[in-house]
Amino acid sequence: MSSSNTKAPANANTNAETAASNFLRTIIEADSATGKYDGRTDAMAHPLPKVITRFPPEPNGYLHIGHAKSICLNFGLARDYQGRCNMRFDDTNPEKEEQEYVDGILEAVKWLGFDWKDETGDHLYFASDYFDKLYEMAEYLIKAGHAYVDSQSAEEMSANRGSFSEPGKNSPYRDRTPEESLDLFRRMRAGEFKDGEHILRAKIDMASPNMNMRDPAIYRIRHAHHHRTGDAWCIYPMYDYAHPIEDAIENVTHSICTLEFQDHRPFYDWVLERLAEGGFFKRPLPHQYEFARLNVTYVVTSKRKLRQLVEEGVVDGWDDPRMSTLVGIRRRGFTSEAIQLFCDRTGTTKSDGWTDYSMLEAAVRDDLDAKARRAIAVLRPLKLIIDNFPENLVDECHASVHPHHPERGQRSFPITKELWIEEEDFMETPSKGYFRLFPGNKVRLKYGYIVECTGCDKDGNGKVVAVHCSYFPDSKSGTPGADNYKVKGTIHWVSATHALEAEVRLYDRLFSDPMPDAGGKDFKQCLNPNSKEVITAYLEQGMKGALADEKFQFERHGYFVADRVDHQPGRPVFNRVVTLKDSWGK
Ligand code: ATP
Ligand code: MG
Repeated sequence: MSSSNTKAPANANTNAETAASNFLRTIIEADSATGKYDGRTDAMAHPLPKVITRFPPEPNGYLHIGHAKSICLNFGLARDYQGRCNMRFDDTNPEKEEQEYVDGILEAVKWLGFDWKDETGDHLYFASDYFDKLYEMAEYLIKAGHAYVDSQSAEEMSANRGSFSEPGKNSPYRDRTPEESLDLFRRMRAGEFKDGEHILRAKIDMASPNMNMRDPAIYRIRHAHHHRTGDAWCIYPMYDYAHPIEDAIENVTHSICTLEFQDHRPFYDWVLERLAEGGFFKRPLPHQYEFARLNVTYVVTSKRKLRQLVEEGVVDGWDDPRMSTLVGIRRRGFTSEAIQLFCDRTGTTKSDGWTDYSMLEAAVRDDLDAKARRAIAVLRPLKLIIDNFPENLVDECHASVHPHHPERGQRSFPITKELWIEEEDFMETPSKGYFRLFPGNKVRLKYGYIVECTGCDKDGNGKVVAVHCSYFPDSKSGTPGADNYKVKGTIHWVSATHALEAEVRLYDRLFSDPMPDAGGKDFKQCLNPNSKEVITAYLEQGMKGALADEKFQFERHGYFVADRVDHQPGRPVFNRVVTLKDSWGK
């Protein structure tokens, strides 16, 4: 048994696909070859895996498809190299964080198929659990002359920071003695000062070409309630200071983040070097690596913008099936296996780019094709009357549950005198190449009989309200007579007397612009006005037994899911996950 803490992916090809396209694997394998992380032990002298990654969200919103990329990458590498991935909440920012988001994030990671528990323990961590250590290390940095309390105003500080072309200026407080800084820092902690009155800064180099090295802030005063530590603290560590320490405390080896943190890496290393010198951490230290974030066309992946869509009522909540949140994607009917497949296929690179939304759709089609049971649904119903069909005859027709899995058995549904067919499957005057129903033409009713169209009924406005046909009793699918008829078109149908009426929500992309939030655009001006349509459809009788969250392929239409929130036995509700790649029967 390996010590991997993640489930194997559903698709066996994914590892190979990832391996081919992932520079991080090359790094991990090189570290393994040189034995860089061999022989490490934790505080209890237990051996540590050679690969420890972490997924470190801030609990300030729901996770989105971009986070899925990070989850699959971090947990996936740990899985593939018999390592471990820690689930860590980066909750150093008291104001925006909430327990609701912690719970939602944990559920999303589990849903994606990953687990932070393994035989060595429960690797769920909170940065806020390290507040004492982070504070202690800050005191050490002050005593060692590596940090000082600055008392400039925010305006002075930003004026003295310089710019990309100009070096910054030293703060007049930079040469405070460690004793003086320590005294002020302790009083900051004791609550003697107001927000912004003082700040603790690393003492590095105000002339560094890297702005992040110009004496970055380490601790700020924030009189704010924290969702886990309550009012115990009124100073909070800055992300760039806390993150490397969190990694080192957890013995992380490969700390993987997105490209915008590349310029922060020198400070990441600086913090760990100083603290290793101080005896807080043993070498080798964690190393930060950056990869290009996932950008998907036709979606937004910023928690702030997603929140705006929810709060302004543009969508019906965080889990609206059009949202790029994992709760939304899940409710839309995407499987976690499809998301894993998508994340693996998109690869991991060091240069930013865009991934087309159609790749996400392709992944869910590929996953559901093999899994989803088939069913018939008529979405835009038009009555078809078989005039020569006996009035009360209920004749069972059969179809396979899944065409490639005969072992999954058969389904059956009745054919009767009155059926529902799709509006578009009849044309009074056929266009060129139209092989479906028109007066005088024969088609096959899929799994049923051959019928010949005899005409239609119209209302006062000339709208077709019913189509008439006659059937050939010896032509039933699966009987010897079936082959006696040659037709060019096949259409689907359900019995009007037996079909199940259901609400069907036809979802489409939320935005009509491929890059709704690029180039200073207002993403809310890019909404697709037709992203949701609610219709009443007729489904084959057996769909009465559909369970919430169960996925189906509605033949000719696409993949659908019984809505996990609203679907009930007496009130069926289905969401369209995605259309089929090709619609047949044209
Ligand atoms: P947002 O801007 O939406 O708030 P964030 O990056 O601030 O996202 P965090 O909670 O800090 O959100 O992110 C947790 C982890 O997920 C980080 O390691 C971050 O790099 C990663 N992540 C976030 N968005 C993406 C993305 N689009 N592609 C890949 N990784 C991402
Ligand atoms: Mg963030």
